[in-house]
Amino acid sequence: MKAIIFGPPGSGKGTYASRLQMKLDIDTVSTGDIFRQIMKTDSPLGKKVKTYVEGGLLVPDDIVIDIIKKRLSEIPLGKGFILDGFPRTLEQAKALEKVAYIDVVLLLLVPDWIIIERLSSRRICRDCGAVYNVRYLKPKVDMVCDKCGGTLYQRSDDTSEVIKRRIEVYEEQTQPIMEHFKGKKIPFVVSNCEALDTPPEIVVEQMLKELRKLKLA
Ligand code: ADP
Ligand code: ZN
Repeated sequence: MKAIIFGPPGSGKGTYASRLQMKLDIDTVSTGDIFRQIMKTDSPLGKKVKTYVEGGLLVPDDIVIDIIKKRLSEIPLGKGFILDGFPRTLEQAKALEKVAYIDVVLLLLVPDWIIIERLSSRRICRDCGAVYNVRYLKPKVDMVCDKCGGTLYQRSDDTSEVIKRRIEVYEEQTQPIMEHFKGKKIPFVVSNCEALDTPPEIVVEQMLKELRKLKLA
């Protein structure tokens, strides 16, 4: 299965992608995670990326496309993957088409109030990138990653001003991409999120059910 997972910031893309990855034995590629790794380095690229991410703006297409092409070329032939956070512009969608065929779009629909509530209490593992929430998806030990023991931190772009900008950017730049994929007749699996405390397992089970119907799981 070659899938794109699509949804507003804080819709749970990363959480669902990592669970699907385990169940389906596929790779996940998260541009957000890749950029956070790059930002940790003091390189010129790291500094450049940081100005965009911390402003809630999209990193320029040429940078993103170069990085994603390289990452996709590392996935063994025939292995499935989920792209989390890519493509985010039409330009990126067109670049993707040249290197991979996408079987399905997983679309998450989440109201703004849930996004804001979730992002402001979100915490990330410094070492492995796993996502927690101090209110709804707590780690077993306070501020410690269940998976790797790393320390949790709050992302520098999970502040209310930047969250607002990211939602705007999502709405403006990303809607045309959905139209693009619909136009290509790629199937959609849509998940509606209406409650803050729906356990991720439930959403993932529903996705898997739909994916089985499409013979992708
Ligand atoms: P979220 O979906 O929670 O906003 P991500 O972790 O996917 O967060 O992305 C964080 C930031 O990384 C984005 O706000 C943007 O600055 C940058 N980014 C991630 N993916 C892309 C992309 N495909 N194109 C441009 N910028 C991106
Ligand atoms: Zn971790």
